Amino acid sequence: MLKKSLQKQLLDALKTQDSISPEEYKQYLKMIKANPEKFSKLLNGSAIANTEVIAKIKGQILNMPYEFLEGKKIKEEALKVIPQDLSRNYKVIVFNKEGNNLDVGLVDPSDFKAIDAIEFLARKKNLKVKYFVISPDSFQNAAKGYESIKEQVGKALDFAEEKLAPKSGTSISDATPLEQVVKSAPVSKIVSVILRHAIEGGASDIHIEPQGDKSRVRYRIDGILHTSIVLPIYVHAALVSRIKVISNLKIDETRIPQDGRIRLTVGEKDVDFRVSLIPLITQEKVVLRVLESPDKAPTFEELGFFGNALEKMEKNLKKPNGMFLVTGPTGSGKSTTLFSALFKLNKDGVNISTLEDPVEYHIEGINQSQVRSELGFSFVAGLRALLRQDPDIIMVGEIRDKETARLAIHAALTGHSVLTTLHTNDAVGAVPRFIDMGAEAFLLASTLNLIISQRLIRRICENCKVKEEVPPEVLVEVKKDLAELPEKAWYKGVKENSNFQFHKGEGCSQCGGTGYKGRLAIAEMIIINTRMREIIAQGFNGKEVREELIKQNFVNIIQDGWMKAILGLTTVEEILRVTKQEE
Ligand SMILES: [Zn+2]
Repeated sequence: MLKKSLQKQLLDALKTQDSISPEEYKQYLKMIKANPEKFSKLLNGSAIANTEVIAKIKGQILNMPYEFLEGKKIKEEALKVIPQDLSRNYKVIVFNKEGNNLDVGLVDPSDFKAIDAIEFLARKKNLKVKYFVISPDSFQNAAKGYESIKEQVGKALDFAEEKLAPKSGTSISDATPLEQVVKSAPVSKIVSVILRHAIEGGASDIHIEPQGDKSRVRYRIDGILHTSIVLPIYVHAALVSRIKVISNLKIDETRIPQDGRIRLTVGEKDVDFRVSLIPLITQEKVVLRVLESPDKAPTFEELGFFGNALEKMEKNLKKPNGMFLVTGPTGSGKSTTLFSALFKLNKDGVNISTLEDPVEYHIEGINQSQVRSELGFSFVAGLRALLRQDPDIIMVGEIRDKETARLAIHAALTGHSVLTTLHTNDAVGAVPRFIDMGAEAFLLASTLNLIISQRLIRRICENCKVKEEVPPEVLVEVKKDLAELPEKAWYKGVKENSNFQFHKGEGCSQCGGTGYKGRLAIAEMIIINTRMREIIAQGFNGKEVREELIKQNFVNIIQDGWMKAILGLTTVEEILRVTKQEE
């Protein structure tokens, strides 16, 4: 409620400006004395005077600037500084954020509790706040940005229902033709909300699929699919058709798979979506892959590499020739690691060329080619061509066959740095895999520099991180795995957490209730030094490999995972989930 003394001042000002008559003035004055709450409530509507006029007067009285927010689009970055509950409770809104400076709108500038809450938050996050008075209407408008995807889609759906929902007593021929529906505002609004939400939520893929009498929209975030909205099936065909229209696909073709692309401008950046359609028994399913062109690649540190591992990677990346190899199953983040490496190597003085399938990230200054086997532009044909392009650094998306393996080894032997990936379960497995593909052991030995094997795990949300007790049998397993590790290989901070206190995320608004936010790699790596070259050339004897790995302070992927869990970066469940998949 607006403070009583302020109510009186406000009423005086309204009278002075002739916004109210002398009779009304007397009547409201009585109300302030008898029932100030009622008067305060009336002020929030336009019963007494225009709400913008009232907001301006509040500002004059308290010497606080006034701001009009209707029709103004608030950036999510600003809005999200304060949680929705707090905003709703105190009727405050952050409507602008530049660096550490916040512009905060208050409906009731005399509400010290609201100001206290904001000040507390600002101190914690080291932000500077400037306050403005806003009207309740401005607040409502700005707070719309908090609306969830369900609410936004729900509104559009209400409009769509009229045109799309099957009505009783009408025949099919009475229904609005699909082409007309597809062009209609609600359908395009639903599609655009679905796409934008993917970007804002950091999703990598969107699935729109028919499921009985429902159309289900799922997002893959940090590697896991989450159902986000469920729509009535009658909109499914319209959504699919709309997506076909904007990705230039044949709208009337529903019997065969189709592939396309959409470019969308979100905020100030362009985002590409790769569109894939496949007919199911009843209707078509759409999967959209988000292909972002980030301004900056994540660094190795951001990907979860640190300490010794980071040093090994950086040292080997600098070598002018030889092979930098990343292995792991599909979805293990191999391409992201290579992307990060290429970003680091990208300088004027070098020619970097890539062969990829698909090109997942665009990097300015790098010559990226998309392999198109159906046209004869295979990895093999591409590599042959690339070698005549005077390259310094070559990235080959994946080595899948004998000839690509042979050419990649040849390139690495003839003074090029080759970055590539291989589909194997562990680092040691890369050598026999190459030999199986017909590589000569002695050539391979002189080519390889570093073999990394990696997986992606989810990172605990820092905002809702709490301690977690793990079952005793898990603790036994962790201790057993780490006992095999030489003292020197332990990460900083692991020993200090001597009773192995683990953590998890409880789930909050920042992580969509999952308890996880972002991902990081767990990895193992083998340095191909002089001794390891000998071992490879002489047939890669298991016992000799193990002895050399001990000398290298080799940390296997599970040990790396356990230590990252002990350091509080991820949960025990994540390590078990990712490592169990392979059994
Ligand atoms: Zn959280």
